[in-house]
Amino acid sequence: MSGATNLGFPRIGKERELKRALESHWAGEIGEAQLAERAKAIRAANWRLQSEAGISPVPCNDFSLYDHALDTAVMVGAVPKRYAADPQRVDLATYFTMARGAPGEGGLSPMEMTKWFDTNYHYLVPELEPETRFELASRKPVEELAEARALGHDARPVILGPVSFLLLGKSDDPSFERLSLLDDLLPVYEKLLDELAAAGAAWVQVDEPFLAMDLTDTQRAAFERAYARLGKAGPRVLLATYFADLRDNMDTAASLPVAGLHLDLMRGPAQLEPMLERIGSDACLSLGLVDGRNVWKTDLAAALERAERVAERIGRERVMIAPSCSLLHVPVDLDNETALDAELRNWLAFAKQKAAEIALIHEGLHAGRSAIAGALAENAEAMESRRRSERIHRNRVQERAARVTDDMAERGSPFAERVAKQQASLDLPLLPTTTIGSFPQTKEVRRRRAAYRRGEIGEEAYNAFLREQTEACVRWQEEIGLDVLVHGELERNDMVEYFGEHFAGFTPTVQGWVQSYGSRCVKPPIIYGDLEREGPISVDWIRYAQSCAQKPVKGMLTAPVTILQWSFVRDDQPRSETCKQIALAVRDEVADLEAAGIRAIQIDEPALREGLPLRRADWPAYLDWAVRCFRLASSGVRDETQIHTHMCYAEFNDIIDAIGELDADVISIEASRSDMELLNAFASYRYPNHIGPGVWDIHSPRVPSAEEMAELIGKASKVLDVRQLWVNPDCGLKTRKWAEVTPALENMVAAAQRARESLSSETKGAGHGSA
Ligand code: GLN
Ligand code: ZN
Repeated sequence: MSGATNLGFPRIGKERELKRALESHWAGEIGEAQLAERAKAIRAANWRLQSEAGISPVPCNDFSLYDHALDTAVMVGAVPKRYAADPQRVDLATYFTMARGAPGEGGLSPMEMTKWFDTNYHYLVPELEPETRFELASRKPVEELAEARALGHDARPVILGPVSFLLLGKSDDPSFERLSLLDDLLPVYEKLLDELAAAGAAWVQVDEPFLAMDLTDTQRAAFERAYARLGKAGPRVLLATYFADLRDNMDTAASLPVAGLHLDLMRGPAQLEPMLERIGSDACLSLGLVDGRNVWKTDLAAALERAERVAERIGRERVMIAPSCSLLHVPVDLDNETALDAELRNWLAFAKQKAAEIALIHEGLHAGRSAIAGALAENAEAMESRRRSERIHRNRVQERAARVTDDMAERGSPFAERVAKQQASLDLPLLPTTTIGSFPQTKEVRRRRAAYRRGEIGEEAYNAFLREQTEACVRWQEEIGLDVLVHGELERNDMVEYFGEHFAGFTPTVQGWVQSYGSRCVKPPIIYGDLEREGPISVDWIRYAQSCAQKPVKGMLTAPVTILQWSFVRDDQPRSETCKQIALAVRDEVADLEAAGIRAIQIDEPALREGLPLRRADWPAYLDWAVRCFRLASSGVRDETQIHTHMCYAEFNDIIDAIGELDADVISIEASRSDMELLNAFASYRYPNHIGPGVWDIHSPRVPSAEEMAELIGKASKVLDVRQLWVNPDCGLKTRKWAEVTPALENMVAAAQRARESLSSETKGAGHGSA
């Protein structure tokens, strides 16, 4: 009996085979045929693994050589004109050019990439213009279905639904209503569904994540229009929603004439009951009971109980068991984690283990609890060990968190008073210059770190090397005339893992890779228990860097929400509670830096924005605790200590109040790419504290001239008071080369100098004192 289902499996392969295959292909080492062969082997392995775990049908067309939104654009012939004259014929080279661009003269820029909802997966943004015409230009879903069936699997193709596809896109003219293309797109989907039915698909999973997002009436109507047609086409349609609950779209979803509906019961447990009251009398319900966004074992008994309750209401033949969303967002196989101890491993499940959980819940539902008694008992024991473990529950940490008072999130004095004391301590010129923290991680630095990790060089030799490099970096900054220096972050490989390695309750993984985009993967650490700093983390490095310079060196830390956001977090307490514990740990580090004589401390919070909930109504509650956690981490210092923060983006319009409430003394943001336009948010809001809008786009190897940067400073000074302004690059310099960093920062210092001179002559010329 089928009904133990999956919405998608990681594409990257157990050993990141896809990454290696793609990168060898791009390097010209293997041809198209070899790449295709390796991709096929990954698909076969994924199907076999899921099949053996008990999944049936297995998903197909969940695989992609780069990204499924790009695949969909290619499939429906929505290929931007710059790439191909004939949208019917997109060869593999063109496909990769769309994804990655083509370098060199007459080169082509890639399609824009952006985050897939609130995940760390990035998709390529379809370009949709009024003149876009659609046709069924690729048969990838049909081919992959045939491939799975040839291997003996019952397979259910996954496709990105037409409404979400259009809503994910963008157009040159932002006022263009992309949904007006829907009627033109639907025949392509109908044709595809017919072909899939002809190729043997009983069901097709059509992903419409937007159905669980905030929608306008027009957008809701588009779903009705689309599924009135697609619900009638060949195979049975399972409409999949995920990442949020349906809420105000509940009636729309329930009324769509589709054969099945998938609900994310991790993110939206409360939607089950109202859906049961509304669902059509023969539609199936796919229950997302296994968390596709996190790494914890499922509580099998609890999941089974929910499935049983649904089965009582609608009949078990109408129930499918599934992960909450595609398993794309979790690592492939826990068996790879040889370095984790047995206790910790016993609490975890990666994609392969989750597939087995789905099958168990399904079996329990159909064959009864006794059929899976052994597995249930084992699972209950793991759940109980997690509930009780002293590695997870640390009284000291919980008591401290409970004792947090409002005044701990409050600086001693308002900014206006602090800034005078900071100025007396730091003695900075008008338009002070600084950088964001990291300096180039050169080949040599990476080579030594790898050797150190492999045990080829000892800790002492490695640290001596890092000290040498750090000293050179600091002295150079002082020489070229930067005002506030950084130590360069050469000892860090990652701004979250570095701190995670020094917290109790936090563990890195060795193979826990998750696809971020194309061949790129990230390896989020796991927060499993109450968090506590095991001792000072960065203090020795910063103190050492400060000892090499007269000018102030900034302490450099990662802020609570960013640590939370870029990790797998525990699911046994609210995120806000975990974040508070991180905040207290960071607060301790801040206090130690201050005690070590560090006068400026930067606490990076680049992930504040991406932590925003998908539904607008949930924003205020999130921003409230997120801001409070930053303040808890940063407010334990004297007025004289200058708190900096940094964010790598420029869209602040809708969160500007929260940014102001962080009450950091100085914030650095990205601004050069938008030509300072986005500073308007800060101007109209009358941002009170200091701000460093980036004047150098560090995402490109181009070295900006002093004139250019001086002009950007000039623009910024028209929007904000010049006394508020700092001069810095857009982001850290980790990925740049010294050959770019040296001239660019020299130019930046010269630009600040120029701007200071021209501003002082302007004010003299104008004949009155204030800037
Ligand atoms: N301090 C970090 C760096 O410079 C900040 C990185 C980031 O904002 N993502 O690398
Ligand atoms: Zn940044």
